[in-house]
Amino acid sequence: MTKPKVAYVHLSGCTGCLVSLADTYEKLLDILGAVDMVYNLTLADARTLPEGKVDIAIVEGGVCLQDEESVHLIKETREKAGLVVAYGGCSATGNVLNFSRGGQWNQPQHESFVPINRLIKVDAYIPGCPPAPEVIYNFCIAAVTGDTEYLKPFMANEA
Ligand code: SF4
Repeated sequence: MTKPKVAYVHLSGCTGCLVSLADTYEKLLDILGAVDMVYNLTLADARTLPEGKVDIAIVEGGVCLQDEESVHLIKETREKAGLVVAYGGCSATGNVLNFSRGGQWNQPQHESFVPINRLIKVDAYIPGCPPAPEVIYNFCIAAVTGDTEYLKPFMANEA
């Protein structure tokens, strides 16, 4: 069976979401064994994705609109990824990037930092700050195995 190609894209966040992924401990090996990780923080000097399509892009952090590389990276992610996942509150809603200016949930106060859906279409959201390790683990396994019932609550409502 061909393993799905996965990119872990890191934008403006605290890296806590990545730590949560690592906090799955030995289950992380299950995840890494089930996918072909083609891009992540440790591969690349790389503010650009590798050539070709990826199946799943997991995006941590919001976008700083004043950072052209970040804007380019999130747009490139959308072009190349079959499924774009907003992983964690910063990516999904702007989260603490907004709280830092005394904002309210989902009401950005700092115009320079935005959730990724301000720039691209998002296919799925994994909430939390950070999301619980079991949630990202279960999501990844469901995505790899095609468990659409499990994935349904995470999928964007296009209505
Ligand atoms: Fe950090 Fe929370 Fe943002 Fe994740 S959602 S990058 S843990 S502040």
